[in-house]
Amino acid sequence: MLYIGSHVSYTKDDQLLGAVKESISYGANTFMFYTGAPQNTVRSKIDLNKLNEAKQLMIDNNIDYSKVIVHAPYIINLANNKEEDKYNFSIRFLQDELERCSILGISNIVLHPGSHVGLGVDTAIKNIINALNIVLDNSYNIRILLETMAGKGTEVGRTIDEIKEIIDGVKYKEKIGICLDTCHLNDAGYDISNFDSILDEIDNKIGIEYVKCVHVNDSKNPRESHKDRHENIGFGTIGFDNLISVIYNERLSEIPKILETPYINDNALYKLEIEQIKNKKFNPNLKEEIF
Ligand code: ZN
Ligand code: FE
Ligand code: FE
Repeated sequence: MLYIGSHVSYTKDDQLLGAVKESISYGANTFMFYTGAPQNTVRSKIDLNKLNEAKQLMIDNNIDYSKVIVHAPYIINLANNKEEDKYNFSIRFLQDELERCSILGISNIVLHPGSHVGLGVDTAIKNIINALNIVLDNSYNIRILLETMAGKGTEVGRTIDEIKEIIDGVKYKEKIGICLDTCHLNDAGYDISNFDSILDEIDNKIGIEYVKCVHVNDSKNPRESHKDRHENIGFGTIGFDNLISVIYNERLSEIPKILETPYINDNALYKLEIEQIKNKKFNPNLKEEIF
């Protein structure tokens, strides 16, 4: 079964109900959201009436809530403990996010491993493991998915080996997983046209069962550029056919595929991109024709 959706917004007023409605308008059967703005940590109280309404709307529209993903805000950085209060804030905020996810009934939250900002990868990985072992205990039934990163600046998690090292150090293995991002993998140096060999490497080193989410994005930059600039499906250096092979790869057929592609003139292309993915047919004139 194809689980396809996009990043949608969760606003203070409409909350999950707004996110579900937006997803339905795109023809999606899954989605990903931030529990507030991606770039800050202001979070509103969860409205339980809206939550129940949202759950019913998902049932009515065949959206499997267990496949829906939350993304932690970018500013959480578990890699850097130079300033103790900032490091502790990241840990505390992530704990709060898990609490929110558990109220919402979410099973998977995506997290950027962090940036070492000069401390070096080894120290960063130790910091990440330490933080994850504080956050992940038996209180919540939620999995943290470490996202593969482009290696922009001092980002950690730019190779499968770095992800493996972190996972090796995590005590509760059933609470940790991986989110593959095709733009990030490409920019980190992996060849998406040979996606099965990437999956083989993950399977050999970590186990493919750890992969619980895929971010499907084209890239504005060539392989190994370490840039992390997303492009609409088919308009970048990865290309439509390669992304279709990722989306329809049988080894990941039960895993949600989430688009995080750019808006054009304040309009999301998600509905059109999802349509093209379902039809497996690319329209190279899409951007000009629509806006
Ligand atoms: Zn991300
Ligand atoms: Fe991503
Ligand atoms: Fe990215």
